[in-house]
Amino acid sequence: MDRRFTVGIVGAGAMGRGIAQIAAEAGNKVRIFDIDPENVGNAISFVGDMVHRRMEKGRLSAKQAQNALNSLKAASSFATFSDCDLVIEAAVEELSVKHDIMARLEAQVSRDCVLATNTSSLSVTAIASAVSTPERVAGFHFFNPVPVMKLVEVIGGLKTAPHVLDLLCGWAVQMGHRPVRTADTPGFLVNHAGRAFSTEGLRILSEGICGHQDIDMVMTQAAGFRMGPFELFDLTGLDVSHGVMESIYHRYYEDPRYRPAPIAALRVAGGVLGRKTGGGFYAYDGDTAQRQPEPAALDWAKLPCPVWVSPVDPDSRDRLCAILGSIADIELEHGTSPTSHALILVTPFGHDATQSAVDQGLDPRRTIAVDMLFPDARRITLMHSPATTSEIQIAACALFAALGRKVTMIHDSPGFIAQRMLAMIVNTASEIAGQRIATPQHINDGTMLGLGYPHGALALGDVIGPNRILQILTNLSEHYQDGRYRPSQWLRRRALLGLSIEHPDRL
Ligand code: NAD
Repeated sequence: MDRRFTVGIVGAGAMGRGIAQIAAEAGNKVRIFDIDPENVGNAISFVGDMVHRRMEKGRLSAKQAQNALNSLKAASSFATFSDCDLVIEAAVEELSVKHDIMARLEAQVSRDCVLATNTSSLSVTAIASAVSTPERVAGFHFFNPVPVMKLVEVIGGLKTAPHVLDLLCGWAVQMGHRPVRTADTPGFLVNHAGRAFSTEGLRILSEGICGHQDIDMVMTQAAGFRMGPFELFDLTGLDVSHGVMESIYHRYYEDPRYRPAPIAALRVAGGVLGRKTGGGFYAYDGDTAQRQPEPAALDWAKLPCPVWVSPVDPDSRDRLCAILGSIADIELEHGTSPTSHALILVTPFGHDATQSAVDQGLDPRRTIAVDMLFPDARRITLMHSPATTSEIQIAACALFAALGRKVTMIHDSPGFIAQRMLAMIVNTASEIAGQRIATPQHINDGTMLGLGYPHGALALGDVIGPNRILQILTNLSEHYQDGRYRPSQWLRRRALLGLSIEHPDRL
């Protein structure tokens, strides 16, 4: 079967031209229209440059490049779309404009033509309400830049016919993209899943637990993410990110899981948006973020004191003792309680240093909490209570520096940085699975390809352990008395039963 097709594109902006490029490179006939004809000319020459560049890099043969260029044509009106199998609307994000485009398209295209919208935040069902054949309307949500971001969400509205979604999935694959199916819900799959990372980063910063750079460094150097939330805000533009946060929060009727942060609203009001305004959370020298130098740790050999590790979590205690055992001449105490001059290490999950010291009857002046979520990573997070002395904080930093680790010392925080960020990511993904917005496989693919996570968001939960995630969330809920941290029932049931949260056979 010849799987090439004829596609019309309405809107020749950033998204329309990217979609035109991948469709033309895949050998399809492409017609592109814009309300401003100059934009169509610009889009065609832009795609021409991109195709040439890819040919020069050896990614396209000369013949493929020539075919792509020949197959891309300007459309002067919607009548040009009469032979299209698919028309993708990628005009401005306004419901009235999209309604008008859909109604006018319906009058021109053939009966079998699929009408797709690239909307990122409007309801597909609402857009489809403008036509008399809503069963042929679906969302086809690409990401920017389209040729690089190999993911597309295929969104079924309330009335979309299943075969339309199958057709779009097939066309996506033909254009070299990975389709993930999602229901017509606020943020669809990817923008919904991404709310955890962004809003929890802001929440940790708002609570005065540490600086934005600390959060970014822990997320990249301990949790293995490509970027921290504040690097991402500066890249995307906080006006865009905050807008998405507000939209999803209100569209979910103020569910605290998605609550945005006042500190972001203030920055938006002040025009401190990120790279595009010359500065955001970071100042920039060209494209390079200016980072604060980290304080040098002192030499552990010069401040030795015995170290006692709490046995409350035996696995963490054994692991931490094994790690610390590699330091020459370390004196590890093995008694049931620490001596009065020991550095006391606790290893909580979802609790803070204060709670751990009080619950375990330990001297809070000598207590430091260690995040054991990623104990082998090159960066470790330590937490002190308000009572912990500065001498003990300095000694703890020196101890982990002696192991070759970078150290982030934070104020009291139930769940440190990485624990609460990851617990929120897994919890949000579990909620998406539980609401049947997308399948676990598609949630994993969508979060890896669309958000660049090191694992799919549900796979991450299985790597850490559903029980561990549930423990962190339960303790966070208890600390904050805030519905934001309430565990998803999908996650809770699987954790209680000892099941994987990403398993496709147990929906
Ligand atoms: P853009 O502003 O770059 O381009 C929009 C284009 O639509 C412009 O060329 C404009 O002239 C044209 N247009 C406006 N009204 C029109 C009409 N009535 N008929 C035909 N053309 C019209 O916008 P964009 O970033 O390409 O976004 C387009 C759509 O894709 C929006 O719905 C947006 O939400 C969505 N989207 C954007 C991104 C992104 O990162 N930019 C990502 C995913 C989805």
